[in-house]
Amino acid sequence: MTSSILRAVFLAAAVAASFPALAQLTETEQRIATAVKARSPEALRLLERTVRINSGTMNAAGVREVGTILRAELDSMGFQTRWVEMPPAMKRAGHLVATRKGGQGKRLLLIGHLDTVFELESTVVPWDPGGERVRGQGVSDMKGGNVVLLEALRALHSAGALDNTTLSVIFTGDEERVGAPQEVARADLVEAAKASDLALAFEASARRRGGGHMASYARRSAGGWTLTVTARPGHSGGVFSETSGYGAIYEAARILDEFRRSLIEPNLTFNPGAIVGGTNARYDADSATGNAFGKNNVIAREAQVRGDLRYLTAEQGERAKARMREIVAASLPHAKATITFVETYPPQAPTEAGARLLEEYSKASQDAGFGPIGAMDPAFRGAGDVQFVAPYIPALDGLGASGSGAHTDFEEMEVASIERGAIRAAILIHRLTR
Ligand SMILES: [Zn+2]
Repeated sequence: MTSSILRAVFLAAAVAASFPALAQLTETEQRIATAVKARSPEALRLLERTVRINSGTMNAAGVREVGTILRAELDSMGFQTRWVEMPPAMKRAGHLVATRKGGQGKRLLLIGHLDTVFELESTVVPWDPGGERVRGQGVSDMKGGNVVLLEALRALHSAGALDNTTLSVIFTGDEERVGAPQEVARADLVEAAKASDLALAFEASARRRGGGHMASYARRSAGGWTLTVTARPGHSGGVFSETSGYGAIYEAARILDEFRRSLIEPNLTFNPGAIVGGTNARYDADSATGNAFGKNNVIAREAQVRGDLRYLTAEQGERAKARMREIVAASLPHAKATITFVETYPPQAPTEAGARLLEEYSKASQDAGFGPIGAMDPAFRGAGDVQFVAPYIPALDGLGASGSGAHTDFEEMEVASIERGAIRAAILIHRLTR
């Protein structure tokens, strides 16, 4: 290589580094980005309209009302929309589902939710505009994300880029408190996943301490366990003897300590959150309250422990549960224990396909001039709807608005994150659906 060619290569690299945005978007993509920007004031108004309607999960009328607004948006872009009712006994509003069918590119599933944690009695101000940031009920979790999703589609629509694509959009009405039975509450989401190749979820975009953006293609399960112990009661003076044994409280303590000693590994946690023990011990899960009767001079007959369990892969979960059952079964004399498990959210295990999807999103972001997107540590992202689709298709979450204080009195959102998020998402969707 001659020195002049070398110099040309260096120059080209320097130019690319200083003008990443202009160089990397195609003409259509630039039109899409421009369309997002043109609608930014409109997007903020749409956000305000939906945020001002209280849609706490248990406020079914409010959830439906928000759904009606989003449905009209999707109707106007040529989607087939329907409202999915849940059985009345579930006491949930239902979900908004929208689809369009075409013959090109990847079939995408886009996920949002209509409900918030702020129920009707919440004293948090519904909408508090503050210039660059707004505060309000569900602004970042996730009415901002819903708007990002819709504005991305709106820009694609205006550029004619939705034509011949296959997209499913689902806005669930009970993400914050999933209705029971869960199989029914999430049947439509799972069905949509089975008919799609990839999923994008628009929960809030996360940021590193240093400011870099992050998205998630892996996260841990959520679930819990109940340990129930019974033992032979007797006079305390006889404890440790062959005839009396150790009682239910020592047995529970042995089991918990053995969990801690032999099970700790990366991405696995199993926190005991409540324990009751004595002659009689009861725990009520609905009120998260326990009571016990016992005396110092009596060997405990009953104990119960409630805990949670989180793991990153189904294999890790099965291995942990097997080892926990083994420990539980190795009872002290005259004691007997059982353990049961429930999994409320399946894990989203890290996969190559998930990592590639993040890479494509990061590339779209960089090409649009917004910088790279990193992978969020799976341990730090709370449970979400995307986990129900993860067993079927690769999925990426965190494409929504950027904010802080989700679920608290101080929930707020960066206004500019709507435009930024919509441009990134629209370009990614555009590329995936060619
Ligand atoms: Zn959420």
